[in-house]
Amino acid sequence: MRALFQSQVQVDLPDAPKLVLVTDLDGTLLAGKAADRQRLYRWLDACRDEVLHIFATGRERRSVAELFDGQEHAPLRQPHLVISDVGCTVACGDSLELVPLVVDEIERLWEERAPVVAAMTAGEPGIKRQPVTAERRQAFYADLEAMDPALLQRLRDQGVDVVLSDGRYLDVLPPGVNKGTTLQRVLELLELSGTPVVVAGDTLNDLGLFQTGHAGIMVGNAEAPLLEWLPKLPNTYLAKGEGCSGILEGLSHFGFGELLGEAVS
Ligand SMILES: [Mg+2]
Repeated sequence: MRALFQSQVQVDLPDAPKLVLVTDLDGTLLAGKAADRQRLYRWLDACRDEVLHIFATGRERRSVAELFDGQEHAPLRQPHLVISDVGCTVACGDSLELVPLVVDEIERLWEERAPVVAAMTAGEPGIKRQPVTAERRQAFYADLEAMDPALLQRLRDQGVDVVLSDGRYLDVLPPGVNKGTTLQRVLELLELSGTPVVVAGDTLNDLGLFQTGHAGIMVGNAEAPLLEWLPKLPNTYLAKGEGCSGILEGLSHFGFGELLGEAVS
């Protein structure tokens, strides 16, 4: 399967990575002290052949591509792979072309539910469709005070998953699909089950990443509803630092200090 997966992406994936680093974007890889962001971005570039880097984001692909339009996030470079749409899309980190091996499975779960979700949410108070090209999911802005509190359960009763993040982003997803389950599928297809994996995030849509049981870094700016899960996530470390500062701290905590020291002074 690894060969087939590699044939579907336009970047060379490391043959035998020492680490798979999976990072959320907003509030995580794009946050933290400027000096720590620079350090982590330079390290990821220098260790490109040793660290398989995956973005795991609630953004859709176009919004991920926009990160690299200017120099705002330099020297951050494209990762090897992108898991976007809260786990509903897997794409090559460079071209952002879909990886059909994974995406087709998710598409099958979503296609019959999409019209049901569209009908149930049309005209509902307190929710507004986000102006994004959400793929294999539906994304809304939610006003918790204005929306019908029973709506989420009505949606779940239709066999879809519902995730509310940052108190305002509502995602309706195919059943059983989140950042974590998609990550697991990717690792399985890449035959990387023996490789250490570290995941990092800051809001509830990252919960699936932490629930995989991989070493987890909850960054210091994590939202309160995610922090409530911490006691149930025994392999997750709560960093003091925000964003990249927390990722660096967590990598040292999990024993990657030596790897971090390589190529970055
Ligand atoms: Mg985030």
